[in-house]
Amino acid sequence: MLYGKWRPRGFDEVVGQDHIVTTLRNALATGQVAHAYLFSGPRGTGKTTTARILARALNCVNLKDGEPCNACPSCEAIARGNALDLVEMDAASNRGIEDIRELRDRIAFAPSDLARKVYLLDEVHMLTTGAFNALLKTLEEPPPHAFFILATTELHLVPATVMSRCQRYDFHRVPNEAIIDRLGYIAGQEGFKVPHEGMLAIAVQSRGGLRDAITLLEQVVARYGEEPSTDDVLAALGLVHDERSELLAAALVDEDLAAALEIARAVADDGLDIERFTRDTINVLREVLPHIVRGTPAADLAGHRYLGMLERLRERRGNVRAIAAAIAELAKADFRLDPASPVPLEVACASAILGPLEAPVAAVAAGGGGAAERQAVRVPRNQAATAPAAESRANMTPEQAFLRDLYQHCRDTDIKIAGMLNGSCEVVEMNGDVLELGFYYPFHMDTVANKGRALVEEQAGKILGHPVTLRVRQLERSQSSSRQGPKGGHLAEAAKAMGATPVKKEN
Ligand SMILES: [Zn+2]
Repeated sequence: MLYGKWRPRGFDEVVGQDHIVTTLRNALATGQVAHAYLFSGPRGTGKTTTARILARALNCVNLKDGEPCNACPSCEAIARGNALDLVEMDAASNRGIEDIRELRDRIAFAPSDLARKVYLLDEVHMLTTGAFNALLKTLEEPPPHAFFILATTELHLVPATVMSRCQRYDFHRVPNEAIIDRLGYIAGQEGFKVPHEGMLAIAVQSRGGLRDAITLLEQVVARYGEEPSTDDVLAALGLVHDERSELLAAALVDEDLAAALEIARAVADDGLDIERFTRDTINVLREVLPHIVRGTPAADLAGHRYLGMLERLRERRGNVRAIAAAIAELAKADFRLDPASPVPLEVACASAILGPLEAPVAAVAAGGGGAAERQAVRVPRNQAATAPAAESRANMTPEQAFLRDLYQHCRDTDIKIAGMLNGSCEVVEMNGDVLELGFYYPFHMDTVANKGRALVEEQAGKILGHPVTLRVRQLERSQSSSRQGPKGGHLAEAAKAMGATPVKKEN
């Protein structure tokens, strides 16, 4: 395993946690060591690695400036993993009071092969209350030869009493640049050649966890060999470019709004990262634009990634304007308020083709949940039945506001189920404990009714304040567009109501 092989052997090799290793090294160099340490932080950021180096440093007979020598018998025994006095315990599987009592009984005995006994308790937040209390007693009066290093990814679950007995160190997510440096070093040593863009993709994907980054590097190399391309890395990471970004780019260039909206909706319904998909679409357009402007000869385009699209566009140089408008509008789409919503992308498509829309429409469309809609849910049901078609978000019908709320509640747990509540269905009935949703597509209906049922019933219950039973039914498409109104749901619905023809999803 690459990670084990390149695990840091000294504090100076620990990546991205300088604030911690500097303090520890100084304390060790001056003999100011504590009996209990608490290492907290996200997974894979170096807690266990640092704990093992600390265990070595606490026992090393040739400590230099706080760094273990990695050559003396103590250091070697720990490095081989057979030092009896370094006890590593996973609190996730030894979480009971008996486990801690047993540990406490053994602590009383003098160390056998090292100078000091070091107890490393990983995932310490998993201990039961009884076990924590037993541990606390030991931490209050540790034998002089005993040292504790507690590690946790969930600091808030560690009792304050335990925390107060420990010197606490908070491990940070490792910055991408530091991850890339380390991956580059390991790749160099191993003889791998990975493009910088590929390293960056790995670093981003590992979200600050160096261990995950190294594991990903290993998987990429195992699958694509020692010199993977950026595309290989993206494929291994599951970040393959969705071909629908080319279809959307083509629809924008052809100024086919209905097709563009249909693609935006399908992508959202599939739970894709819409911001990323939008960036992909911008990249497609940016790659074809210069060739259209210059009129690059066909012979020079052989093997181009978007050859098909370029061939379609070559004879229509008038579309340069459409390409430029599409890039400009897509770049403006702001997903920060509501990353799962397709609305900013839909608005950008509409603006690209119809010309910039009024600002309030964009603001309303991109708005992520607020007081207005929560209030709207509480409008009495008899008023709801006669509410006029919504003209703005504040005037949404209570049913629409409720669906929007439900979508937002479900989103964190299951973005795919949530996506199916977002513009793909409407409330048929909300009466007593019955919630009946009507769906436009049988696939969405079946998925929500089965896989999504527990989640939808739970979250709907939370919103409405009483238990809810979900019922579903299939709606006719014609029924939906007349019921929905122009601004109630997806722009795709609106486009269809205006006579647009939907296109089929290609993959
Ligand atoms: Zn040593």
